[in-house]
Amino acid sequence: MEMAGPSYEVVVGLEVHVELKTHSKMFCGCANSFGAEPNTNTCPVCLGMPGSLPVLNQEAVRLAVSAALAFNCTIRQRSRFDRKQYFYPDLPKAYQISQYDAPFAEWGSVAIRSGATRRTVRIRRIHMEEDAGKLNHLGQNLQSSAGSLVDLNRAGVPLIEIVSEPDMSSADEARAYLNELRTVLSYVGVSDLRMEEGSMRCDANVSLKPAGFTGSLEDLPRVEIKNVNSLRNVGRAIEYEVERQSRRLAAGEAILKETRGFNDASGRTYSQRSKEEANDYRYFPEPDLPPLVLSEEWIADVRAGLPTLPDAWRTRLGAMGVADQDIETLVREPSQLAFLTRCLDYADDVRLVTTWMLSDMLRLLNAAGLTFAESPVGPERLAELLHLIEDGTLSGRMGKELLEKMFASGESTKTLVDKLGMAQITDDRVLSEKVAAVIADHAKVVEDYRSGKVKALGFLVGQVMKRTRGQASPEVVNRLFREMLDE
Ligand SMILES: [Zn+2]
Repeated sequence: MEMAGPSYEVVVGLEVHVELKTHSKMFCGCANSFGAEPNTNTCPVCLGMPGSLPVLNQEAVRLAVSAALAFNCTIRQRSRFDRKQYFYPDLPKAYQISQYDAPFAEWGSVAIRSGATRRTVRIRRIHMEEDAGKLNHLGQNLQSSAGSLVDLNRAGVPLIEIVSEPDMSSADEARAYLNELRTVLSYVGVSDLRMEEGSMRCDANVSLKPAGFTGSLEDLPRVEIKNVNSLRNVGRAIEYEVERQSRRLAAGEAILKETRGFNDASGRTYSQRSKEEANDYRYFPEPDLPPLVLSEEWIADVRAGLPTLPDAWRTRLGAMGVADQDIETLVREPSQLAFLTRCLDYADDVRLVTTWMLSDMLRLLNAAGLTFAESPVGPERLAELLHLIEDGTLSGRMGKELLEKMFASGESTKTLVDKLGMAQITDDRVLSEKVAAVIADHAKVVEDYRSGKVKALGFLVGQVMKRTRGQASPEVVNRLFREMLDE
């Protein structure tokens, strides 16, 4: 795909909405659960009935502050809720309770890696708000729809909105940022983070900065792409938008400040509304809620409850000697780190453990659709298996076979080794006989080897492996052949 020419720099900022995984909604006791019968998780508060009053969900505040602290944000000890006013059929109150000019968290950061590039993306603010309901259009799309059904189960579900500075300069960096955001949030455990179910949603602001531009980025004509529904599509939407804006600029046309949608099928963005007709939300302080006051002690308590975060893990794993690319694979999934940590209670060789985890174990788990937390072969069992490889009882190949059998049967390492008679043959006396027999049967190959064809040795070793059904120790067999054939 054609990217911006050398005379423009891509400027991307992201606004990410994350639904918080609380038991109940933000301002009422209704269940916060996805997939219930439409309009069953509702009450006078989230339906916006006159006279009903909101009560702030403390758990939502704790999750929101945990997330903000994980991104190194400064927590405002006194913040406020505001009413954002607009009309839409999925918003029964005709306003959304949000935070406007006093968000609870500001100035955080996310370190990203995109290829060889490392950079820090600043987070400008994180605020809390309630979600709106959902419209289900009958038929294929809104335009051809005969009607729309309103489901208010989602109305009042707690959200945080994470607003970045426009610090990203490509679709790849935006993907890396979202990936890291999602990884950190998965550690903190504040959300399901399912983009396809809408529990994580992303708006992307894209503009092109002319070379030598020294003004404020705010003055650049900015296009906002709304509600992109997958990580992959965020990248596609940005790539398309960069191409579209470059084309317009190359043709001498202006970029309009506007809101655009993204069409998954065509891979294109399309105009939704221009910013000139943008809403004026007439924010004002929410009169039914007191200011949100958080004590220093309470914030310290939330901070103390945070788990070890990805960056700390990167440092720790690096110090343990884990290879860089394995570190990146490991930190993407907290259950892998838990498994590794427990495995190291029984095993010493961290590289051996990570190699087995990320190759054979991961392959078996993926095929079975399981995570490390659900693995039929637990950390202790894997460690046992690796001990048998280290002490020469099993060859690497036999280890793989045994792992598959353990995976399928759930039986212990030792039981299976005994049952299947799998132990590796390392006894010199037993193997010497086999080696001697192979030498006698393959005089021609032996001659080749002696006359300098080193490769012939592989064939001879293979014959012994065959005759022992793979149980001979390849190291011992190799040594015995050399002892008998090299003079
Ligand atoms: Zn309710």
